[in-house]
Amino acid sequence: MEMQNTVAGSACVSGISLHTGARATLRIQPAEVNTGILFRRVDLPGKDEVRALAANVVDVRRGTTIAKGQAVVATIEHIMSALHGCRIDNAVIEMDGMEPPIADGSSMPYVNMIREAGIRQQEAEAKYFTPDRTVFIDGGHTKIFMAPADKLEIGCTTSFEGCPFNPQFFELEVTPESYGKEVSSARTFVQFNDLKQLLAMGLVKGGSLDAAAILHEGAIICKEELRYTNEIVRHKIMDLVGDLYLCGRRVRGKIVAVKPGHPKNVELAGALLKMIMQQEKAQ
Ligand SMILES: [Zn+2]
Repeated sequence: MEMQNTVAGSACVSGISLHTGARATLRIQPAEVNTGILFRRVDLPGKDEVRALAANVVDVRRGTTIAKGQAVVATIEHIMSALHGCRIDNAVIEMDGMEPPIADGSSMPYVNMIREAGIRQQEAEAKYFTPDRTVFIDGGHTKIFMAPADKLEIGCTTSFEGCPFNPQFFELEVTPESYGKEVSSARTFVQFNDLKQLLAMGLVKGGSLDAAAILHEGAIICKEELRYTNEIVRHKIMDLVGDLYLCGRRVRGKIVAVKPGHPKNVELAGALLKMIMQQEKAQ
């Protein structure tokens, strides 16, 4: 029997947040069985909390934002991805602002934080969810298909204007090992033509070549060499693993995703959450 996991101790990541540009610290703390993932805003007087569930998502335009009352937490997909990838079921994520540090734009710094804190097995069986029928999210250019399966397998393709490596494809069975090795180090990216608009919206204030690659007229501009020629599609899978975890359980399924993004990823997580709630009600 596979058991639930939390962290053995606490550890943190500090740095600049992508959109607000503020300095931020994110700290992981252990939590009791069946807690799930709980974000706590330690900078607020009431230390307000919000549960990482699709039902609490309030914005998906540039990253995934959840909120409950005063507890607003933005750009949670990379920390959520690291938690799902490492199979951490229960944790309190303390933040001193509304957005976590972007670090190098990948989820690797969060995987390292979890490894530093240590993983502790708990006295309750791990909860997995797989749908009992195929789920299809049709968002025009974006399509996500999910079929029942006894493991999590993701195949993904994407393409971007101005990208020299088009289209990109990658598939893998997601285990803590494959996640750490194959997708956690894939960095975020932005299209040069979108930057002006994002800045006008007051976003990406903390953006730099330390945290993202830029696509521009057939070139990829980044500080170091690309980590993979298909780094972008690997990052898309990393984001999807994070957004899927908003259903509140470890996910099993065979997923085929075409040009996925936060809006449709979260729609899928919301559909899974509804099925889970119906199942629990029927029990
Ligand atoms: Zn991302």
